[in-house]
Amino acid sequence: NKQVIFKGYTENVPEESDMELKVSKIKLEAPKGSGAFLVKNLYLSCDPYMRGRMRDFRDSYIPPFVPGQPLEGFGVSKVIDSDNPAFKPGDLVSLITGWEEYSLIHRTEQCRKIDPDEIPLSYHLGLLGMAGFTSYAGFFEVCSPKKGEFVFVSAASGAVGQLVGQLAKLHGCYVVGSAGTSQKVDLLKNKLGFDEAFNYKEEPDFDAALKRYFPQGIDIYFDNVGGDMLDAALLNMRIHGRIAVCGVVSQQSFTKPQGIFNWFNLITKRIRMQGFLQHDYLHLYPRFLEYVITNYKQGKIVYIEDMNEGLDSAPAAFVGLFSGKNVGKQVIRVAHE
Ligand code: NDP
Repeated sequence: NKQVIFKGYTENVPEESDMELKVSKIKLEAPKGSGAFLVKNLYLSCDPYMRGRMRDFRDSYIPPFVPGQPLEGFGVSKVIDSDNPAFKPGDLVSLITGWEEYSLIHRTEQCRKIDPDEIPLSYHLGLLGMAGFTSYAGFFEVCSPKKGEFVFVSAASGAVGQLVGQLAKLHGCYVVGSAGTSQKVDLLKNKLGFDEAFNYKEEPDFDAALKRYFPQGIDIYFDNVGGDMLDAALLNMRIHGRIAVCGVVSQQSFTKPQGIFNWFNLITKRIRMQGFLQHDYLHLYPRFLEYVITNYKQGKIVYIEDMNEGLDSAPAAFVGLFSGKNVGKQVIRVAHE
C-alpha cells in the first residue's frame, strides 16, 4: 500500500520535504466485527486548508495530522470489502480518506454514496464537493447578494473562486476576478464568464487596480487570500458592502501574519465582514447539489479541473497550491475507475 506520510509540523508554507512516500503491507479485507470497510482510493483532493493540519495547533475546528501517518483529505473511492452493511463492494463513495492506495474506513459521518451518472467522478471533489459547496454557502448565505451588485473575487480561477464568479453571474451581478497568471485571466474572461479579470502579479498597486475595475466601488468581496488584497479591497468597498472571509492563502506564515491597515473603512462604510466555515451550512448540501447539477447539465456552469496522475505526484501538487501552479481545482488520480 503506497502512502504519502506526514513527516512533521510546520508553521510555514508546506514543502514537498514535509511529506514522504512509503510502501507498507495491508490486508485487502475489512476485519470481521470491525464495522469498517476497505476502499481503493481513486481520486484525492488537494485543499489549502490541509496546511492548517500540518501545524501543531489543537485549538482548531479540525485536529492536526499525526507525524508518521498518511495525510488525509477528501477522496472518491470504491468499496472493495466491507463489514458495514450500509457500504457494499462496488459502491462509489466520496469521503475523508488517507493519502494512500487503500484505506480502511471506520468513520462514516462524512461518507456520501455517489450515483454514477454523466458527471465525472472526480467532480465530486470540487464542483459537487467541499470547494463547490464553500462557494455556494459563502456566496448565498454570507454575501447576501442582490441583482446588479458589483462583486470582486480573489484566487478567482481556483476551485472555490471559479464557482463564486459563476454563481454571481447567474444571480445578475457584475463580477471581476483576480488571478496570478495571464492564462488564468484568460480563462476567467473567456471560459468562466467573468466580466473582467486581472493578473494581480502584474498590478503591484492593488488599490489602483480595484479603482480601475470598480470605479463605482465594490458591494461584495469574496476573499480567498487575505493580506494586501483585503487591505486594498477595504479601501474600495461601497457603503453597506459585505466581505466574506473565506481563506487567507496569501499568508506565508501562521506565526507572522501580514497586517491589515484599513480597518477604519469597516466603520465609515458600515461594511459587514464575516468569516465562515462551509461545514456550518451542511444542511444546505442537497439544495446546493440540485442547483449546481441542474445548471451544469444545462451548460450554465462550467468547471476547470487540474488533474495530476499518480500518488507520487501528490506532494508536489499539494505544495503547488501555495504558488498558484494549479489551474482550477487540483486533484490527484490515484487509480483508474
Ligand atoms: P485554489 O484552487 O484557489 O488554489 C489556491 C490558489 O491560491 C492558487 O491557485 C493561487 O492562485 C492562489 N494563491 C496562492 N498563493 C497566493 C498568494 N500568496 N497570494 C494570492 N493568491 C495566492 O484553492 P481553493 O479554491 O480550494 O481555496 C481557496 C480559498 O478558500 C483558500 O484560502 C482556502 O483556504 C479557502 N477555503 C475556505 C473554506 C471555508 O469553509 N472557509 C473551505 C474551502 C476553502 P493564483 O495563481 O491566482 O495566485
